[in-house]
Amino acid sequence: MATIDTNAVAGKSAAIGAKTQAVIDVFDRYVVPNYRRFPVCLVRGQGSRVWDAEGAEYLDLFPGWGCNLLGHCPEPVVRAVQEQMAALIHVPNTWYTQPQGEWAKALSERSFGGQAFFCNSGTEANEAAIKLVRLRTDGKRYKIITFQGGFHGRTMGSVSATAQPKYHEGLGPMVAGFQYAPHGDLDAVEKLIDEYTGGILIEPILGEGGVVPAPPGFLEGLRRIADQRDLLLVFDEVQCGCGRTGKWFGYQHFGVTPDVMTLAKSLCAGVAGGAMLTTVELAKHLRPGMHAATFGGNPIAAVAGLAAIEMIEQQNLLNHVDAAAALFRTRLESLKAQCDAVRGVRVIGMMIGIELSIDGAAVVQACLEKNLLVNCTQGRVIRLLPAMTISPADVHEGCDKLSDAILEVASRS
Ligand SMILES: *Cc1c(COP(=O)(O)O)cnc(C)c1O
Repeated sequence: MATIDTNAVAGKSAAIGAKTQAVIDVFDRYVVPNYRRFPVCLVRGQGSRVWDAEGAEYLDLFPGWGCNLLGHCPEPVVRAVQEQMAALIHVPNTWYTQPQGEWAKALSERSFGGQAFFCNSGTEANEAAIKLVRLRTDGKRYKIITFQGGFHGRTMGSVSATAQPKYHEGLGPMVAGFQYAPHGDLDAVEKLIDEYTGGILIEPILGEGGVVPAPPGFLEGLRRIADQRDLLLVFDEVQCGCGRTGKWFGYQHFGVTPDVMTLAKSLCAGVAGGAMLTTVELAKHLRPGMHAATFGGNPIAAVAGLAAIEMIEQQNLLNHVDAAAALFRTRLESLKAQCDAVRGVRVIGMMIGIELSIDGAAVVQACLEKNLLVNCTQGRVIRLLPAMTISPADVHEGCDKLSDAILEVASRS
């Protein structure tokens, strides 16, 4: 087992294996240091397991930061990509390809019947949505209301759409026209609307914000306001979409349909891909020449996206998610009952937030020492985005180790 202590994270532990250290040395010299990384070099993955360069095995409850929806290297996706790779890797959007059309159809049939624009990431999908809102009125109604606690990406438009000042530090000036309302506050939204407002952008379930679903009635209220004031309602489902929550899309839990929806992360089960879906009526505002993504909808992403949808249906994974979620809920609620440091447990399918009263980073570290991979967001929320394919045995093993880690950290704080 790779022993990793806090010092190791600071990069000075003797416990780092030689192979891993050699990779770290190359990074230190040649890779821009814009990420905080754990001193672990991963080389292989299968399902909910990954292995590092020294051969140590980990249980991964946060596979691919939510991108690896079906676990590491899901067989149908690997096969589809391998076959497509040998036939045609990439052609630009000046040509038609069958996979892109089939992929758009599959997404449309499982959502609100619209059309898809394809790109490669979540932030790009949101840029497309922002442009669509502006183009609908030829830029006259350019303002978009977004929410505190939301996260929409790192390009200048999406980061401007993200309310938290910590994402803006040193980057100003932001793109004009974004206004931030407190999450859950319909009155505040009404007050922000003026003749220049064109849309409302929200995550139906906050991801980076700590796995927080919209409060009861909130999305319904936004839908009503959008209809009354002729605004586009845009749902950012980059984290909660594509089956993770036990329904195809997060909005389907609330019975509120958006005009525009953005997808990425899990969309292609670990292959890079993003999409913006909108109605046929609205789609024509994104007219030729106004937006593009060179790699968008490429055959590799398309067959991966299609294979993911097929695998979810053939293996009945939406139902499996409900069962796995129930197991997580039972285990985590019983941990909460026995440990004061656990303040709240939120389980929406394979999107799980455990609110702590203690430092989450220390818990992540304690988990890593037990070869369990989890994430912390908002300082005190342990976030799990497990694979939809996770087995009951892995849920139990993960909850055993996570419980031990939380109890350990709580006992020293
Ligand atoms: C991750 C995320 C994004 C940004 O996606 P990238 O692919 O990193 O650009 C946007 N919105 C939400 C809700 C996300 O979770």
